[in-house]
Amino acid sequence: MDKFIVSARKYRPQTFDTVVGQSHITTTLKNAISHNQLAHAFLFCGPRGVGKTTCARILAKTINCENIQPNGEACDTCVSCRTFNEGTSLNIHELDAASNNSVDDIRSLIEQVRFAPQMGQYKVYIIDEVHMLSSSAFNAFLKTLEEPPSYAIFILATTEKHKILPTILSRCQIFDFKRITINDTVEHLQEIVDKEELKAEKPALQVIAQKSEGCMRDALSIMDKIVSFTNGELTYQNTLEHLNILDADYFFKLLDAMQQQDLATGMLLFDDINRKGFEGDMVLNAMAEFFRNLLVCKDERVANLLEVVESFKDRYIAAAKKTSASYIISALNVLNEAEIGFKAARNKRLHVELAIIKLTYLQQAIDLADKKKVVEKAKAVQFRALKPVEIKEQTEGTRNKVQETSGAKLLVEEPQQKIEGSRYKEQEPKTNVQTPSVSVPKPSSPGLKGGLSKLREKIAAESNNAANQQRDLDEEGLKIAWQEYILKLKAAAKHSVVSIFEMMEYRIKSPVDFEVVVSGAIQAGFLKQEKTSLLLHVQSFFKNPNINIHVELIEDPEDDTPIERPLTVREQFQLMAEKYPLVKELRDRLGMQLD
Ligand SMILES: [Zn+2]
Repeated sequence: MDKFIVSARKYRPQTFDTVVGQSHITTTLKNAISHNQLAHAFLFCGPRGVGKTTCARILAKTINCENIQPNGEACDTCVSCRTFNEGTSLNIHELDAASNNSVDDIRSLIEQVRFAPQMGQYKVYIIDEVHMLSSSAFNAFLKTLEEPPSYAIFILATTEKHKILPTILSRCQIFDFKRITINDTVEHLQEIVDKEELKAEKPALQVIAQKSEGCMRDALSIMDKIVSFTNGELTYQNTLEHLNILDADYFFKLLDAMQQQDLATGMLLFDDINRKGFEGDMVLNAMAEFFRNLLVCKDERVANLLEVVESFKDRYIAAAKKTSASYIISALNVLNEAEIGFKAARNKRLHVELAIIKLTYLQQAIDLADKKKVVEKAKAVQFRALKPVEIKEQTEGTRNKVQETSGAKLLVEEPQQKIEGSRYKEQEPKTNVQTPSVSVPKPSSPGLKGGLSKLREKIAAESNNAANQQRDLDEEGLKIAWQEYILKLKAAAKHSVVSIFEMMEYRIKSPVDFEVVVSGAIQAGFLKQEKTSLLLHVQSFFKNPNINIHVELIEDPEDDTPIERPLTVREQFQLMAEKYPLVKELRDRLGMQLD
């Protein structure tokens, strides 16, 4: 390996036949030449790097050839052909409209058009990226395009046909260039590998072809780069490394782990991927593409659309067989959401791991959802009040305790007046509600929390299946939405509201109405503060803007629960007396009175 000339230049096609993947165009052009039916203006459209300029140059050379072959190709030996091949021909003018798009640039081109060619038959003007011309430049050009001299041929090339004025389009013969297929690219690369006596594994070439996305120029320059790095030996592995592409093998392993609900293996695999330097968003993206490929493989007839390394095709088909379509679609949804949220996520690694966790338990969630559907069919939907059992049990004890004290009762009944009358008012006028003297134990409910993520997944899976459509209220969903809202409150450090919300009862009244039951003015006050944002949260959870919230106020002090507040002296005593019976005895014996 002494020198390796950039193959994009070295192997630029010199004849129509060697143009890759555009035979529909080269055949038409050859026919036009041999039948002498050349248009005066051509428009070559198509993606970048697929051979537009190359075809334009070949066309220019061929029509100027003194000895056109019977097959419509240039002879490549006559004087004209040789000047073309050496790049010294005066009959070809190229203008890159991307950088020369002013009226003056076009005027000087038009100026040249006036002179007939010294040698050969045609003067060919190639205007690349013609859509970049300014509108005044376009107008200046239009006249020449309308009445060109017989020897002038214009070839306009563009990647953006829709930006070309209709007046130009109508004056051109239009050719649409195709993206070059992976197979065509691989074949072409293989030819070069053979000619240059390099070594290349076929999967390596396939990866390059895939990466270049139908652009031959890119494919060649990628191959050049890897050849120079690897001393002319392209293996699948070193190609992946150079292109920073994740080996699909990882995803097959990940899928296996996920299907067996083997979270540990999944996490280890991700760690391995991460160590190789692949960023989280890249992993999510590649994983989504992997699932897309699986979906494509669901039907073997469509498997031909699969643009993957040949040797992986069978693996994809096999993996697709043992993965349900609903799983794949849900997985794609999970990944899509993860990708959208990636930028905002603070802990990127955790963010990706969360997606992996979700995918690991996705099948379980789908099964649950399916079971639920069966049950729902069997019996009519019931709307029941939702009341987390643990919460009730835990709070009742506290309630009773406090209710025994008359002061507390009074406070609960008329909270505003009592607080105002309290002597603590003068000392700490504003903080009385927050002062944590009696703290109602927060209902810690591990069972509920653990179940929450599962439920959330289940609901997510359900809504995924429904393609994220607007949903009616349902008990489980509302339960989750409610718990999520509490988490929000916690995150906002609204502790007193959290405990109120954890105790509040709510029930579904109709598919779009739910009711929150509040007892007492305190609960009502807190709910009033949060009502709008709670409603918005529930609406967005169900993706249903028609959902309404209703408040049912029960004036029942017996059932009310005091929130964190300062204790009166009497309450302090009562509490102490309960804890330490001796205190009471002491008071009674000494005949002390509380003020
Ligand atoms: Zn010739």
